[in-house]
Amino acid sequence: MTSLYFAPFLCALVLALALAFRRHRAAMLLAAIALAVAALSLPPAQTVGLRASAACAMFLPWLWLLALLLPEPPLRSRRMLVFAAALGLSAWLVAAAPEHVWNGLQDLLPLGLSSARPSRVALTLALLAAAIAAGYWLWQRRPLDAALAFALLAGALGWIQLGGLELRSWLLAAAAVIGLGVVYASWRLAFLDALTGLPNRRALDETLARLSGDYALAMVDVDHFKQFNDKHGHDAGDRVLAAVARSLGRTRAATAFRFGGEEFCLLFRRPELARDACEEARQAIEALRVALPRKPAAKSGAKGGGKSAEKKREATVQVTASIGVAARGGTRRAAPEVLKAADQCLYKAKDKGRNQVVALA
Ligand code: GH3
Ligand code: MG
Ligand code: MG
Repeated sequence: MTSLYFAPFLCALVLALALAFRRHRAAMLLAAIALAVAALSLPPAQTVGLRASAACAMFLPWLWLLALLLPEPPLRSRRMLVFAAALGLSAWLVAAAPEHVWNGLQDLLPLGLSSARPSRVALTLALLAAAIAAGYWLWQRRPLDAALAFALLAGALGWIQLGGLELRSWLLAAAAVIGLGVVYASWRLAFLDALTGLPNRRALDETLARLSGDYALAMVDVDHFKQFNDKHGHDAGDRVLAAVARSLGRTRAATAFRFGGEEFCLLFRRPELARDACEEARQAIEALRVALPRKPAAKSGAKGGGKSAEKKREATVQVTASIGVAARGGTRRAAPEVLKAADQCLYKAKDKGRNQVVALA
């Protein structure tokens, strides 16, 4: 009895997690898996239990394909309703369709049980679903899509019962992989900055709270960035911040964080290296040339100008940054004090004309 409820309960738990983090595609896939696992958990004495494995081959891969081919929908949307209706109809057919409807259905479905080898058809469709998820991952680089691809691949293996494991076990593995994917995507959301990919302020605070021993902190602030945005636009500003972040990420002996806005923080576990490394980082930022986003071609120019006109419009921009550095030591023991000292040095660098490093002796 426990195993009867445990597997569907586990799937429902992961489904709730996906819904809570608004991962609606993952939630759709999980809803289909949860129902399949629930049906496969029932004893064959019940109608659903008797029809379960045939029903999984008939409906589950199609539901996966539907979930993947629908653009990721908001919770309350027509697309979500379409999926819920398809899921509900499949559940009704398995649980309540009269025998003659159920038998007739097998001939109706073009790629269902009418095939001589239903599990092969299901395997092919499930592999196709996994390939689509992998395609999304290659296209958009969202880690959750990679998790979905692996999960569906695991689910697909259930139809050849790889390793002697039954379909239900492989579906449970698929649900677990999706769960891990949802948790990892949420971890990224909590601790990584979306624009630059650097660890964010929360990650910095948690890192500082755990730190002991010697270290130095550097506050990095892009100069006159408001003016830059006003002149070139917010999109260009975003590109510059991403480029500055990539450059800071390469700073010798440092971990880079996005502090907020156009401010970054560098953490050095070897404080003696901080000053020189910050000077290198400042020079690297000054040397950056960031391509401005292309403006749409004016109508008259688009006709005759062609590629050369496009090239002419491509321009690069340059920014500078000021940096303040302070190390832990003396009366500065707690992280907020070190941060404050670095910030004061940053203000000095700004006062002295910007584009320079000021370190606390
Ligand atoms: P200073 O040299 O004294 O640092 O001047 P500043 O203009 O850089 O400083 P200020 O604090 O006045 O302006 C910071 C600007 O950074 C304002 C805001 O529009 C811009 N900014 C903050 N976050 C972002 C972002 O994520 N993207 C873009 N494009 N701009 C941002
Ligand atoms: Mg600032
Ligand atoms: Mg600034």
